Amino acid sequence: MSQESGCSFSNFEFYFNIHIGWLNKIQKVKNLNIILFALVVLLCTVSCKKEEPAVTACFTPSVTEANVGDEITFTNCSENAINYTWDFGDNSSIITDESPKHTYTVAGEYIVEMVAANDNSTNTTSQIITIAITSPPTSFEGNVIIVGAGAAGLAAAKKLEEKGISYLILEATDHYGGRIQKNDEFADFPIDLGAEWIHTDKSILNELIGQTGTEPDVETILYQPTDVYEFDGTNYEQIPVIFMEAFYADYFKEYKFKNTTWYDYISENFAQPVEQNIVYNAKVSTIDYSGEQVTVTTEDGTDYQADKVISTVSVGVLKSNFINFIPALPTAQIAAIESIEFLPGLKLFMKFSEKFYPDVITCETPTGEKTYYDVAYHKEANDHVLGLLSTGTSTQAYYQLANSIVDAVLAELDGIFDGAASQFYTGDYILKDWGQQVSTLGSWTSPQEVCPEDLKISPEEKVYFAGATFGAVLDVDDTSNIRGSVQAAILSGYDVVDKITE
Ligand SMILES: Cc1cc2nc3c(=O)[nH]c(=O)nc-3n(C[C@H](O)[C@H](O)[C@H](O)COP(=O)(O)OP(=O)(O)OC[C@H]3O[C@@H](n4cnc5c(N)ncnc54)[C@H](O)[C@@H]3O)c2cc1C
Repeated sequence: MSQESGCSFSNFEFYFNIHIGWLNKIQKVKNLNIILFALVVLLCTVSCKKEEPAVTACFTPSVTEANVGDEITFTNCSENAINYTWDFGDNSSIITDESPKHTYTVAGEYIVEMVAANDNSTNTTSQIITIAITSPPTSFEGNVIIVGAGAAGLAAAKKLEEKGISYLILEATDHYGGRIQKNDEFADFPIDLGAEWIHTDKSILNELIGQTGTEPDVETILYQPTDVYEFDGTNYEQIPVIFMEAFYADYFKEYKFKNTTWYDYISENFAQPVEQNIVYNAKVSTIDYSGEQVTVTTEDGTDYQADKVISTVSVGVLKSNFINFIPALPTAQIAAIESIEFLPGLKLFMKFSEKFYPDVITCETPTGEKTYYDVAYHKEANDHVLGLLSTGTSTQAYYQLANSIVDAVLAELDGIFDGAASQFYTGDYILKDWGQQVSTLGSWTSPQEVCPEDLKISPEEKVYFAGATFGAVLDVDDTSNIRGSVQAAILSGYDVVDKITE
């Protein structure tokens, strides 16, 4: 015990000394803390004195009444603000520019709200202005028939609607969208059965609906896969990642929709405002423009009369001569139509229980393209869906196989992946054939192909043509020519209405 207590005494003394030392230090720290606290209080008092004055939100629009398509400038006159958020009241993206410009695409009354803020205060009681949008004056007072409810037909209809011009859309199938379709049920994410990629920048989604800003309302994915392989029928080799990165950095830019599709975009922004004027299952077989008015006849013998007709059917349909033009189209125009390459194409989607494939496999093919790709790339998905996009030679070869396309694809993949395709295949697939579908008869026009001017002749200024092949080329960042794309179709629809009404 004594040894214990002796031991404990000396320990106590030791700890006491140590603790005293620490206590001194703690006391010093406490003193320091008191000084620091005083400093903070002082600083706070000083900074409180320098607090920025309250914000006053204020803006002036360049006009309070404008036409659809007019650009309106909103000049900021706020006081003491450093941040701004603008809501233009038309479901467009919130803008944070100081003095933004905005273009409305649909007639109506809008409440523009701006919130101004600085570091200390936010003025949420911002000024509200009502903008009355009137339709632009047009000398055209007739009515229009649009043949086809794809992107071009819907865009033309939307513009006619905005201009207050009477129109009707005759659509061969029982749905709108044309080469833009989707499937919501196959996987745990929606799948684009036709157009899928956004060429070349996502800002195009805003531009097409007259909105400014680079960020569209919908979520998108920057599509830059680097796990990319080449397959020439025998050799299967990875394209070096460094090459793919350079390719994306220097040249190529593409996006995809993240949780939605091209169909959703078209549906929301183009189809919904005009759907009441679409006649479905109305397959046009004759366009007779020999009289004062144009008579459009559908396969079931129904006649429709209009002052102007806009054909938006694909070049494949025009080439098939299913539609009989009376009188015949000008020879130069027929030659131009014939000169356009419009390859057959299909898409195959197959579901697997494991992802045994890379992001992309590009296959060698004499014409068109053949690409396997991970459809779920960067999507919010648990399902594994491998897509095959085939046009030209490879599609023609698949057509020879009739019902055994899936078997042929599985055999090819098994050859590359040592039987993994058959092992993991769930038996679920979608085959979407665009080449043999009578309302399309092809896939798309090559962006590289030059559009002959004669293609755009408007016979007797009664029959007009629009569609992705006839579309204006819109260069986004000069990265690529995007003729044949969705935006080319939409812009051609807008252009043709301008042509008719101006
Ligand atoms: C497999 C595939 C993948 C693609 N991928 C992309 C992509 O990733 N990105 C991209 O930007 N673009 C892509 N495209 C191209 C894009 O889909 C088209 O360029 C665009 O959708 C064409 O629109 P459109 O209105 O000109 O023609 P269409 O969509 O063909 O519309 C024409 C409409 O006319 C109707 N019609 C036809 N004949 C008649 C008739 N006799 N009477 C009445 N109606 C008729 C049709 O049913 C159709 O609704 C792809 C196309 C395909 C097929």
